[in-house]
Amino acid sequence: MKWSWRIGTLAGIPVYLHGTFLLLIVFFFVQDLAAGGNVAAAFAGVVFLLAVFATVVMHELGHALAARRFGIRTRDITLLPIGGVARLERIPEVPRQELWVALAGPAVNLAIAGITYLVAAALRVTVSPLDLEPGAHGTLGRFLAVNLWLALFNLIPAFPMDGGRALRALLAERYEYVKATDIAAALGQGLAWVFGFAGLFTNPFLVFIALFVWMGATAEASSVSARAALAGLPVARAMITDFRTIEADDRLQRAAELVIAGSQQDFPVLEAGRLVGVLTRDALVRALAERGLDAQVRDVMAHEFETADAREMLEQAFSRLQACRCAVMPVVSDGALVGLLTADNVGEYVLIRGALSQRRH
Ligand SMILES: [Zn+2]
Repeated sequence: MKWSWRIGTLAGIPVYLHGTFLLLIVFFFVQDLAAGGNVAAAFAGVVFLLAVFATVVMHELGHALAARRFGIRTRDITLLPIGGVARLERIPEVPRQELWVALAGPAVNLAIAGITYLVAAALRVTVSPLDLEPGAHGTLGRFLAVNLWLALFNLIPAFPMDGGRALRALLAERYEYVKATDIAAALGQGLAWVFGFAGLFTNPFLVFIALFVWMGATAEASSVSARAALAGLPVARAMITDFRTIEADDRLQRAAELVIAGSQQDFPVLEAGRLVGVLTRDALVRALAERGLDAQVRDVMAHEFETADAREMLEQAFSRLQACRCAVMPVVSDGALVGLLTADNVGEYVLIRGALSQRRH
């Protein structure tokens, strides 16, 4: 995610902080200042912020560890003002598993709220679960309130909240996955309007939340429909079949000519008809600066590269293409090079299929 800084690693998962999380911190600071704080109050404020911070991390860790139980790894955790995002390597295919993964986050907040309540009771501190304002009930009460708020907010059954995922999981047992996502996303967008309007007349922070909810709901709906467009199709349907190759003992001059003459940027490299490497435009440009036009392709090409099989499922090959961050993936069939797969080309394929499916008869 853009505008994120890596702040550490937990249970083997990198944790990032998104710039907008700082806005949440500013919001609480302003609230504290408005309440007229002294040094002790300011110190309580700092402790409180760190506690909220830890809470959001624990919430996401709840999702990540639940997913790990189903054999799904988490790429990273990013902390956002409305609760953070645990980016799972894939979404559980069994709806019931997605349900548990979604509910694990809010469950952590409820557990923390419960523990806070017990601690408060042991210390004989009165806490009110509804009091988000600083002052009256002290840091403990406010911490309890924040956790209840996070749990309840995330349980709202609309995308992109956890409750939306839980709802989709339940709907997915009856409807097709894309339809289930659309319903949960439409609820999220409707809710964003309600938040936005209510925020205009009450708390401006709600308008800010509305924006996040709207963006999250829209993004989920479009990424699911893109994945659905790829589902059940072999790589051969979306690969580039009209492409140029280059020989391992060609000079870079030849590669430079091909890049200029056509629209292809990355080339599979052959030797005696066998695929032995990939020459990307970036590698070519770097090598031209270092070695000039006379260097040989074999000395510059990538010897290690990912390939896809023409009969492989497109969805699977595409997620590998995204994961390896390679510009191009050669497609082979029975050991012979038959095509190329690029993110742009798959994008065009999705676009065309989408346009055709919207046509009314
Ligand atoms: Zn969550």
